[in-house]
This record gives sequence, C-alpha cells and structure tokens, in this order.
Amino acid sequence: MSQIFTKIEDEARERVLGRNFTALLKSLPFMHETSLEAKINELLFRFESDLRVYFTSGTTKKPKALYSNSSDIRNTADYIQWFCEVEGIAGGETVAVLMDHSFWAVGPLTCLGHIAAGNSVIPIDLRSKEAITEVLDAVAPTVISTLPSKLEEYADILSKRNFKVLETTGEPMNEKQRARLEKIYNAEIFDAYGLTEGVVGVECKNHNGYHYREDKVYLEIKSLKSDNIVPDGRFGEIVMTNLMCHAQPIIRYCTGDAGKILRDQCSCGLRNPRLILRGRVGKTHYLLDGVKIRQKNMQEILQEVLGHVPQYKIKVSVKEGIAYIYLDVDQISASQSRKIIEKVSETNYDVFNLVRTNQLKFIIRTQNI
Ligand SMILES: [Zn+2]
Repeated sequence: MSQIFTKIEDEARERVLGRNFTALLKSLPFMHETSLEAKINELLFRFESDLRVYFTSGTTKKPKALYSNSSDIRNTADYIQWFCEVEGIAGGETVAVLMDHSFWAVGPLTCLGHIAAGNSVIPIDLRSKEAITEVLDAVAPTVISTLPSKLEEYADILSKRNFKVLETTGEPMNEKQRARLEKIYNAEIFDAYGLTEGVVGVECKNHNGYHYREDKVYLEIKSLKSDNIVPDGRFGEIVMTNLMCHAQPIIRYCTGDAGKILRDQCSCGLRNPRLILRGRVGKTHYLLDGVKIRQKNMQEILQEVLGHVPQYKIKVSVKEGIAYIYLDVDQISASQSRKIIEKVSETNYDVFNLVRTNQLKFIIRTQNI
C-alpha cells in the first residue's frame, strides 16, 4: 500500500507543481466547451507532428476535437495505472474493456493503464451479445471495465461470470443502481470519474468520492453564481486543469459538473483529496454509451422551432440497447415535431451517430401537460 500513499498535501503540492503554480493559474481565464470545437484546418496543420485525435460531443452542433501526443497518452496511462493500484487490481488480472474503442478515448486509455499496471487486457467493442460471449468464454476475465448502462444491458451474458471487480465510468450511477448491479454480479464496483478532456479520479474501497492526484489533475471549484473560486468543502462547478496533456492544453476548463473537494484523510489511508460529485450543473439526460443531451439544448431547440419555450417534460429510457427520448409538449404540429427531432439529432456528433445507427428513437407526444 505504501507506494500509493502519495504525499500531495499542501506543502508537497507546491513542491510538485511549483511554488507559483496556483497564483499563475488564478491569473488565467476560464476555458469553456466551445473552445474545443473542431477546427479542421488547424487539425490538419497540427497533424504534421505526433498526434492522436478523438472527436466527441459538444453542446453545439460541431464535434469537439481532442488531441494528444504520445507523451500525453503515456502520462494518462500512468495515472490509470495508479487507479488500478487504488482498486487493488494492479498486476496479474485479465481485464475485459467493454467500450467503444474508436470514438471514445477512454477505451484505449483504460487498456493502456491496465497494461502499465501489469494486467492483461482484452479490448471488446460494443457488438452483439453473441460476439461478446465468444470472446469472454475464450479469455475468462477477472475484471470488467465498462459503463453502468452496459452492465445492465449485458447482465444476462455477464453476471454469471466470476469478476473480482467491476470498473465503471462515463455515466452517473446512483446508490440504488450500484447496489443492484453489485448484487446481480456479486462483485464490488469501483467507479472512476473523468471527461474526455481529462481523467480525474477513482474511488477507494470506501466508495465515498473520487481520490485524485494533484500532480496529474488540478481541480478548482467555481461558484455557481459567479466566477469566484469557493473554498474546499463547498459545492460548485468543477474546473479542471489537466497537467498530463500538453498537445492540447486544458487549463481551467469549466466541466459543467458540480462537486466539492474534501481534504480530510480518508480511512483507506490515502492522503490525496477526494472529489464528491453531485451531477451536472444543468440537468443532463443520459442516452447510451455515455452520450448525453442537456436540458439547455432542448430548451434552445424548442425556442428555435416554436418561437418560445413551452411547458414540456422529457423522459429517457433504454430498452434492449435502444435509447428512447419521450418528449411531452403541449400543442405542436406534425411539421414542428419533425423539426424538433431533426434539431435534436443535430445537437452533437454522438447523438447524430446514435440516430444514424438506429440506437436512438424520439417519441413526441402532444397532450395537455
Ligand atoms: Zn479513500
């Protein structure tokens, strides 16, 4: 255990990050999601050097482009290796990483992190149950790393296997869902929190927040009402500075997630701070595979199509690998319904992809609500 007791208290943090780090950081402006919209010309130019590019959803119609160089990827993989140590699965495990491995950076990075930790890795794309079963039968993994919704969706083919640990990430999971999954699978869940813009932290055996290393990722908490940074222990928007990636600097990035930082020593023995996550700053609807749509996008679409934001309700449910968005809205015409569906599909690249592959259906119901 001793190697994971990183000494990142205030004094050590200053030594790691440089004495003037926090003062310098506070002089820099906040960065928002729109700063990451894909700029194709710029990307082509930048491709002259050592880069890997991932496209991911943005709240605008343009995808975000996130690029890393080899050293960024190595640094992030090293950090995920530390996650494995915290979870107690560093070395000798066979890990099935059941995620999208092409469009989502988290899949390949999870694989590299486990390899760095001395585990064997089987990357498995989200294909048919038959295809996944065939691979799992052949390799008998001891750990599975996936999204909570995939543990639900594939429970019939996964839950009877003997997993030591279930690693989850990418989607919020409430206590009820966690308890249900741990019971079905008879294994402990360790959740990790991060964004495509940067991996943040992992749960310890106490499962009370995400431990993170301040030499890897520096977090600030911004007031929900102003640009002021609030003290430790207070809730606000999580602002992330990713210290592992340099090809595309992520500095003071406003994540849209809400949380607070705790610095009291956790009974697990780790001295690293913990991030307690509360959810999104604005309401977010989670669809499939970590793809989400925000309430504010829906409001903008209704405003654009109808000229005003009417009374409405949205519900999202997932059945047999298909996400359904139910939108109840008072008095709209068939052509307005069609327009709304079209606009929602264009919300971002990931939503568009779900529609294209028939994994997302819209049901617009007009009724008095
Ligand atoms: Zn702990």
